[in-house]
Amino acid sequence: MAYQALYRTWRPQKFSDMIGQEVVTKTLKNAIMTGQTTHAYLFNGPRGTGKTSAAKIFAKAINCLNPINGEPDGVCAMCQAADNGTLGDVIELDAASNNGVDEIREIREDVNYAPTQAKYKVYIIDEVHMLSTGAFNALLKTLEEPPANVIFILATTEPQKIPATIISRTQRFDFKRIDAKAAYDRMTYILDQRGDTYDEAAIRVIANAADGGMRDALSILDQALSFGDGHVTLENALLVTGSVTQTLLGEYVQAVVQQDTKAALAKLSEVLSAGKDASRFVEDLISYARDLLLHTEAPELISIVPDDIFKALASDTPATVWYRMIDTLNDTQQQLRYTNRPSIYLEVLTVKLSQPLPTTAPVTVERVSATQVVAEPKPQPQRPQAVTPAPAQSTTPAPVSEAPVSDLTGEPASMAPEVNETPVAQPVPSRVAPRVSDDQAAVFSVLSAATRGDLDRVVAVWADMVNMLPVPQQAMLNVARPIAASPEGLVVGFDFDVIKSNAMRNAELLNTMVTQIQNLTQAQHERQLVFVNAEEWPKMRAAFVAQRKGTAQTTATQQQVETQTATAVADDLASLTAMDVASEAEVGPAPVVAEAERLFGSDIVEEIDD
Ligand SMILES: [Zn+2]
Repeated sequence: MAYQALYRTWRPQKFSDMIGQEVVTKTLKNAIMTGQTTHAYLFNGPRGTGKTSAAKIFAKAINCLNPINGEPDGVCAMCQAADNGTLGDVIELDAASNNGVDEIREIREDVNYAPTQAKYKVYIIDEVHMLSTGAFNALLKTLEEPPANVIFILATTEPQKIPATIISRTQRFDFKRIDAKAAYDRMTYILDQRGDTYDEAAIRVIANAADGGMRDALSILDQALSFGDGHVTLENALLVTGSVTQTLLGEYVQAVVQQDTKAALAKLSEVLSAGKDASRFVEDLISYARDLLLHTEAPELISIVPDDIFKALASDTPATVWYRMIDTLNDTQQQLRYTNRPSIYLEVLTVKLSQPLPTTAPVTVERVSATQVVAEPKPQPQRPQAVTPAPAQSTTPAPVSEAPVSDLTGEPASMAPEVNETPVAQPVPSRVAPRVSDDQAAVFSVLSAATRGDLDRVVAVWADMVNMLPVPQQAMLNVARPIAASPEGLVVGFDFDVIKSNAMRNAELLNTMVTQIQNLTQAQHERQLVFVNAEEWPKMRAAFVAQRKGTAQTTATQQQVETQTATAVADDLASLTAMDVASEAEVGPAPVVAEAERLFGSDIVEEIDD
């Protein structure tokens, strides 16, 4: 006998078999019991949530000879015929493959004939939003004058693509995503019935990965089962879902929370070299952080079995850290949709997450003031009883000690110093390194002596120099590029300010850059580094050009400067205008991505010959 997929074998036969759609099934059962059914239904919801199953059960129940409380009895001739697929009065159509007018026309003629065996003819049209306009019009005519004893069930994942004229003639049911707990329960039920054994953690991994779709959950379970002899192991579940092991996730999160960028990047590289999908990794991180948040308040809702790392993270870290992490992860998830270089975004993400939290205090304050606005509409001074010991940092405003963190975690405010201490723990050597600056004067100084030849020489050795660096430092320079050079200076553009400031503080990185670039280009002098934000670069360059023009012509208004920039550059700054136009044309809906792709994807080499 051919192997039957789990989701077929275990397709629900009755409304009570369906999971996670209690409102829908109860309403449909009532309608059948009380004879209050209508001519057309719209079943809307994400894939794998039971729309087609519900439609089939409905068709069976309404034709069942001995229905029991709105459920099909499953044994009468009609139920049997429906189960065997021999009941001609239940007609299924997949609009994804039959979106033509002809099929609907056939239905229009067909509906005029009375059902042959059953009480009702039931048309189930799956993915109905795929119908062509002509087909929708034909369908509408039928729905406008519905013949007796005919019921349409239209199923869709995208109701917004269905004409309003159709929707208004249907009774709409919204199917929910199946929550992980319900999927977990259904899977363990099926496995118990089959006599298979399983690691509970494995089933949790599958329930999470299925993301609200029961059919997906069962398909993944099928694959995981096919690996082992009737036993679902965590390892196989991770393999099939492409998820990262909980241990690796935990170690990664631990590293970023401890602001150990190096260790975090090493963990990331472990994840990537195992061929894990970037989006899946970010999703896993989001649900891990969510579980950490829930652990204190609602431990029954978390989706993993806590291990030691998880427990330590949950008890030692303030909730603000997880809120911030989830925000950052959500941003990265958006960015990942527009890039084909996900590893760069994951590296940037990792550096961001392991930052010494300069933003934590303001974020916390914002949250507090937002809370206060709700709770106390009138601006009021801090309540006097807030005499908790002041946080370590004097620059941090007092409200931090009252942060909702404490309320949410149930932890005393003594958690807070961990966050506040950090900047102190990590000395900032930024001013120590004399090799780099980021002010406009330094940029101008390089530009005034910049040549195309100098830049070409640096660009030619840039990749070799990067390869000499340790991996974490390489990651920083993956979002950086040389953009102008003179015999004694080099301007490097960074896509992200956070990386730029990090790089400026990294004396080891700066030393290597300066000495290796000198060695590799066989230059007589070391080049003083100037780091700029790549987005700011066009403005800086324009300002430089304006300044030059300003010295030549005394009455230069801002507008004139711009006009002159467009015309007079031809003399000695031939390519500037073209570059500006090119970069402006590429500003799209996701400027950061556009900028990154511009930097990585095309040549932005400057030509400044003097
Ligand atoms: Zn029956």
